Amino acid sequence: MLKFTRHPFVDVGAAAITAFAGKSRPEDLSRQDLDEVADFIERHYTRDPLKSFLTAIFPNSGYVQPAMKPEKFAAFLNRYLYGYRNEESVSGLRCVYCGREASVRVFRQHVPMLTGEGILNFFPRSAPGLPVCGFCLLCIQAFPLGATKSSGRTLIIHSDDEQVTLRAAKNFFQDNLKYLNMRDITKYPDQKYPRTVFVDQVLRISEDYLQGQEHSPSITLYHLTNYGTTADVGILYLPSQIVEFLSIASSAKFGRIWGEIVRRAWQKVDDARPGVARNFLYEDLFELPERAARFVQIYFLRQGFRASARFKDDPRSGYALERELNLVSWDLTAMFLREVMEMEAERIKAIRDLGDRFSSYISKTNDRRFFRDFYRIDKYGQLRGLLIKASNAEVRSGRSPLIGFDEFITIFEEGEELPRIDWRLARDLVLIRMIERLHQEGKMIEELTPEEEEVPGGEAAEG
Ligand SMILES: [Zn+2]
Repeated sequence: MLKFTRHPFVDVGAAAITAFAGKSRPEDLSRQDLDEVADFIERHYTRDPLKSFLTAIFPNSGYVQPAMKPEKFAAFLNRYLYGYRNEESVSGLRCVYCGREASVRVFRQHVPMLTGEGILNFFPRSAPGLPVCGFCLLCIQAFPLGATKSSGRTLIIHSDDEQVTLRAAKNFFQDNLKYLNMRDITKYPDQKYPRTVFVDQVLRISEDYLQGQEHSPSITLYHLTNYGTTADVGILYLPSQIVEFLSIASSAKFGRIWGEIVRRAWQKVDDARPGVARNFLYEDLFELPERAARFVQIYFLRQGFRASARFKDDPRSGYALERELNLVSWDLTAMFLREVMEMEAERIKAIRDLGDRFSSYISKTNDRRFFRDFYRIDKYGQLRGLLIKASNAEVRSGRSPLIGFDEFITIFEEGEELPRIDWRLARDLVLIRMIERLHQEGKMIEELTPEEEEVPGGEAAEG
């Protein structure tokens, strides 16, 4: 009777009904399950706390209109909630979601984001209203049960992987049941910071499902309001490579360091947790891969930046490499380069080898100045000059050069003397490897880093 259709409202509704019935797939639902959820909706949608939530989802519907006469309300329920029981059909039209015979035409008060009655735009066959079947319509009536309220809007999570849609709807449904069982609750609780709520859900699903999967799916957040003249939907998207990165980062191999990096990215407020506070790292994931260099600099190389006075609760301004050396991990960074930036394995290896060679050089010579200059460099010419000078000095002392020509090109240049656009990122990556090695060897990085609060040039410096 019910099935996934790839439409977010229908699918989240089908998932919520599946969770309601304690089953594992929409296909397993019986007629009795549908009757029970419809009855539940009839009882709970017309009173708070759900009613207040629904005014921005189904405005002007029977659920939220206290003035609607009982006969009219009964007819509303019969048609739009219990429509799956009726034999009604709209002559010759198919349901736009599932392709079954359509039973009714719907408008904005029945399905969010449609236009109101009497408006023809965007509907098939120049007739107002969207033809749908009773089953898909029941799913759409049920979708708020698998949603949450965030920053005044409705938040749902949908994926091409049906298990992800099911699990997210189940998590939100369980929260909703809790709210319904709370006494003295009139207003539906609002979860702040939708991006943080989204990533938190993805991580929860990752832990008990995604980590065991061969391929990570992409996951989409819909953040909508169907209210008055401000109806709008925001769509946020986590592509599969970011989902894959999150799954691997939170697995046993990286879990300890990653967990700590995440913990230090929470907004500096009391009781920092999803729904209450934002996590800056979670929110920065939505800027990947475009701002990957900045991400590496802040979270993996622990470079703080001066946040403007408006953002006093931004923890990233307090990051300091010399105090957080145990969070610098080459393996975690290399995994990020591979999964998120799709950097070629050859270049990753070249960067790691160079980091190893530089750290051995510093270990051996205690050349603090070389470390400091490399860390601080802001212009490409300076980098080139520094490496040539240090290499030549090594050669004069009868040792091999610090960096070979081919290696230099692979890591820093597009062609001879033409710097790569991401040469600063490459420098930061070499630094990450060097710092990890030197720290493991017990070298005092504190003594090697610049005395004044100076960050390497790059995006993070702009804040
Ligand atoms: Zn349908």
